[in-house]
Formats: sequence, C-alpha cells, structure tokens
Amino acid sequence: MEKVVECPCGAVVRASDEDELVRMTQSHASEVHDMEMSREQVLSMAYPA
Ligand SMILES: [Zn+2]
Repeated sequence: MEKVVECPCGAVVRASDEDELVRMTQSHASEVHDMEMSREQVLSMAYPA
C-alpha cells in the first residue's frame, strides 16, 4: 500500500515501499531541514495514501 509523509514545509513524500518512504523522508529532512529523523519518527508521520 502506498504511504505518504507530509512535511510541515509542505513537501510530500510518497512511496509504495516502507523502506523507500523512510529513506526519502530522511533524505528530505537532512537536505532541506538539516535534521536527522529516525525510522520511528518517519513512520509515526506516515499515513496510507
Ligand atoms: Zn520539509
């Protein structure tokens, strides 16, 4: 099932694979916000698309 993470900045990360969603969200957080996110943090923000 596809999952979505909506960043507070308005960026939307969408992936069908949980590992990919975590990786893409972590890379957005570190590149754009200079912030490290754990897998748990990413998954707690994710919801089914
Ligand atoms: Zn963002």
